[in-house]
Order: sequence, then C-alpha cells, then structure tokens
Amino acid sequence: MKIGRFLVVPAFSAALAAGLAACSASAGPDTADIVTPSSAAQAAAGESLELASAQPPPDSIAAEPPPGGTDPAAPEATPPSDAAQPATSHVALKYLIGDVDPATDPKFARIPDKYIGGSRVWGHKDAVDAFVRMAEDAAANGYKLKIVSAFRSFSDQKQIWDDKWNGKTLVGGKKLNTSLPDPKARALKILEFSSMPGTSRHHWGTDFDLNALDNKYFTNTKEGRRIYDWLVGHAANYGFCQVYTAKGEGGRPTGYEEEKWHWSYRPVAAWYLKQYPVDVGYERLTGFAGAETAKAIDVIPNYVQGINPECTQ
Ligand SMILES: [Zn+2]
Repeated sequence: MKIGRFLVVPAFSAALAAGLAACSASAGPDTADIVTPSSAAQAAAGESLELASAQPPPDSIAAEPPPGGTDPAAPEATPPSDAAQPATSHVALKYLIGDVDPATDPKFARIPDKYIGGSRVWGHKDAVDAFVRMAEDAAANGYKLKIVSAFRSFSDQKQIWDDKWNGKTLVGGKKLNTSLPDPKARALKILEFSSMPGTSRHHWGTDFDLNALDNKYFTNTKEGRRIYDWLVGHAANYGFCQVYTAKGEGGRPTGYEEEKWHWSYRPVAAWYLKQYPVDVGYERLTGFAGAETAKAIDVIPNYVQGINPECTQ
C-alpha cells in the first residue's frame, strides 16, 4: 500500500478546489469535516512505545444476520474467529445503497466522541469497534487518529453530488453546470473524488476518512507522514486497508483518485463489495442529477470495484 507514497500528488490548490474530499465528502456540506492537523510535537509523544502497538486482529467480525434479517430483534450470529474471514450472509439492499437511519439501525454504532473529527458520527458497529481498538493502540504510541467522515446516507451523498452537479459547490474552482455542459464529462469530473449516490462505500458504515481529506497532509506534514506510515504498517492488524491507493502505472487502472485518508474495515466491506454488483443494478442508481450517466460510465465496475485489490478479500 506504499505504492502511492512517492508519486506526485495533485497541487494543494487543486485538491482544495476538488473539495478535498473524495469518496466523498467534498466542500459543501462536509467542508466542516476538514480538520486542522495538530502539532507534530503532540503526535510525537510516546513514539518509543511503537513496539507495543502490534495488536492481534480483532476477534469480532461482521456477523451479518440471515437473509432478510433486518429485524432489530434478530440475534447476531456467532462471529468467526479469523479476522480475515469476511462475513458471508446476505445483507439487505438498503445497506448497500445507504437507505438506512444509523441512529436506529442495530448494525450501526456511534463513534466515541474523542475520535470524531467531523459531522459524521456513525459507522457499522464492527468497524467502529475495530477502529476504537486501532485508535487506542495508536494513541498509546503517540498517533492521534480522528474520523472526519464516516457513514453517509444516500440522501447525504445526493446533496454532495447534486451541489457539485449544479454548480453550488465549485469543483476545481469551477461551476460545472456551465464549464462542463456535457453530462458524462461533468459526471466524470465529479467522480475524481466524489461518489454517485448509491455507490459510495460510506453508505456501508465500514469506511472512515481519517484526520484530513487531503493527500498533502499525509505527504507534506511531519504529523501526517507519521500517521500515514503508522496506518500502512499497522491498520491491517485491525482489519483496515486503504481503498484508493495510487492510480496509473503499477496502481489501480480505474476509479477515484488516490485518497490516503480513506480506510475501510475489510471483514465487512469485502463482503458488501462482493454482493454489491449482484444486488445493485443501474436501475437502482436513480434519483440524483445526471443519474443517466451511471450506465454510460459503468460506475459499478470502474468505480465501486475499482479499488485496491487488498481490500477485496
Ligand atoms: Zn472517504
């Protein structure tokens, strides 16, 4: 997952203009999610404890309820003991496309306040549990992890997307409704960093944006580099992987641009990803501006499935 670390990243101004927020958030409603990096000195505390940070994989894996098992009273199956083992029971369509209320759905849990760095506070409960284990160990070793974006519903993503589509949120400093009148070209521009509603991994609650929605933070600041290196070295021990690694030669051929901040809880997300193309067809991707471009762009293989292969198993 280090393949992107030494590649040239987009200019900071371009990243800002893009909304900094792939997968994503965006300037717009999520602008408040962007966090100011705290001091490197603060993060440096406890570095000597690094060796203590190795932690066995989490035992509790996504144990999804049986098919149709959306009944809040339905008991969860006994979790498998191997963290690398993805959940394999069917998940209802609503969980794949973000048509849920995480505040009342038993699959979701609230992220502890001390790890919240933005306005999104919910995640899949297994992902939240694993993140807390990771963040506690990281903190014990002087690495401060914050979740700046987590679960987003279909309607959350629709607002982000439509605002970019309609020019309310600038993309690359431009109002796309005038600068890119061709629908497919406009959608492709937004897709550099933002998902179409119904296709975001943030719908699943398994994916978290950490610390700063900006690749430059992770390459050009001392604290950001430390944290990224720690994540690359340790996140897999807790079930997390970086979904959007570098593109281009030797990297991903399709999909969103690189996002050093977007990490996914693989034991649940890998199964959701397997089920996604089976249960979600283009007929489901409607109800947002430019939805007719989804099929032409083929967003399911090119974007939903255009991820770091390490996150697919
Ligand atoms: Zn993200």
